[in-house]
Amino acid sequence: MTEVQDTALDPRLNDLVAQLRECSDLGAAGALLAWDQETGMPAKGIDGRSSALSTIAGLSHERFTRSQVRDTLAAAEGLTDLPPAEQALLRETRRDFDRATKVPGDLVRRIARAASQAQAAWVTAKEARDFQAFLPHVQSLLELKTEYAHAVGFAEVPLDALLDDHEAGATVRSIDAQFESLKSELVPLVHAVLSSGTAVDTGPLRRSFDQDTQRAFSADVARAMGFDFEAGRIDRSAHPFCIGIHRGDVRLTWRGQPDDLRPALYGIVHEAGHGLYEQGLPPDRSGTPLCEAVSLGVHESQSRLWENMVGRSRAFWTCFLPRLKERFPGVLDDVTEDAIYHAANEVTPSLIRVEADELTYNLHIILRFELERALFAGDLAARDLPGAFADGMARMIGVRPAHDGDGVLQDVHWSMGAFGYFPTYTLGNLYAADLFEAADRDLGGLDALIEKGELMPLREWLRAKIHVHGRSSTPRDLVANAIGKEPSQDAFMRYARAKFGEVYDLAL
Ligand code: ZN
Repeated sequence: MTEVQDTALDPRLNDLVAQLRECSDLGAAGALLAWDQETGMPAKGIDGRSSALSTIAGLSHERFTRSQVRDTLAAAEGLTDLPPAEQALLRETRRDFDRATKVPGDLVRRIARAASQAQAAWVTAKEARDFQAFLPHVQSLLELKTEYAHAVGFAEVPLDALLDDHEAGATVRSIDAQFESLKSELVPLVHAVLSSGTAVDTGPLRRSFDQDTQRAFSADVARAMGFDFEAGRIDRSAHPFCIGIHRGDVRLTWRGQPDDLRPALYGIVHEAGHGLYEQGLPPDRSGTPLCEAVSLGVHESQSRLWENMVGRSRAFWTCFLPRLKERFPGVLDDVTEDAIYHAANEVTPSLIRVEADELTYNLHIILRFELERALFAGDLAARDLPGAFADGMARMIGVRPAHDGDGVLQDVHWSMGAFGYFPTYTLGNLYAADLFEAADRDLGGLDALIEKGELMPLREWLRAKIHVHGRSSTPRDLVANAIGKEPSQDAFMRYARAKFGEVYDLAL
């Protein structure tokens, strides 16, 4: 295993690093409690668990913002001859410290309380398909998050501050330009695919599959990807996620369906992609920002690259269809490589973002960003969200939700106050294509490796180019350095035209 940058930090930063590690240890304890809440906690544990989690979050914030950290950080910033990694550590710690201290403790607590109440209200409102019950919560979160944006400061508009929380450097202006440009190429491609007259049969992936065996097969794939099961594990949860407690303890979750392999397989491959990033963070930087992922967009690029560009490729099925048949004797005898490759790449307009195909997925994201932008600009009132959401779905994707449960209430993000989060999913898709194309070039053809089940060279490439760098640069610079040019949508569009042109028999 290649471990680049495996060198100790300048000892003059020892005091600061020790203080950061205490906060990070508290964070790890909180992460373990959060993981357990989703995987093992009995239902009646929720009151005690929320209390424990909020105490830990409070303690961590208190320890991080105290004067001792302020003084140690200021003293370290006075050192003039520090190497680049140490300089990056100070820059990122300063960014976190300033953000943490600019937000009044009272506002932090009000947001936490409002978000926890909104999440509970959202669950009920979604089940009852009743947006009115959720409306006061989304209004109060919008107000609180606007107040938060004014506290931390922003480039041009309040939503900039929230975008920057998830993807350092992103602004409404930059995302707007990116999404307008993407739409201009993606929308015609989606229309071409949907009007091609070719129907894709998803039958090969929708058969009766024993769930334990689905998990075992998917774990085989994760192992081939290089996910280290001595530094990670897989458990069941209602919604799949990946949580890095430490780079030596990375936990994935999954859920399966008895009659469809896709949720288990692509869920586990997706989360394992996130997991490889967490396991690949630099060991000697633990507890510091240099041992954290650079952004949510880059994190998502790792999961989507493995899920879609590897896991939904023809080369993947060349290697893994025989292995799948061995796992499910008699179930897939009639299925060819071509059939299963097509089955994994159906494009169809659908209501639910998390189930959307690779192409329309981005339209779901763009719609959500456009709504957030209008909300924060005062061009859209929260009470008008359901109609705006439904109209947007009809206009951009061609389907109209019959009720708010399948419409504006489908995602958890707004109930958590996580405005400005959605764009990172599409940034991740675009970064993934850029990275895959560069790795393909550097490794002399990925298809030939994937066909043989040799996935480790790709993991090593991602490790060297992305994982080991932690938060030592901006997300955009990190990707630009990895691919040797500015990131753009071009690689994604090339990939999408090539793949879906073939699947849908179109000359694009
Ligand atoms: Zn993800």
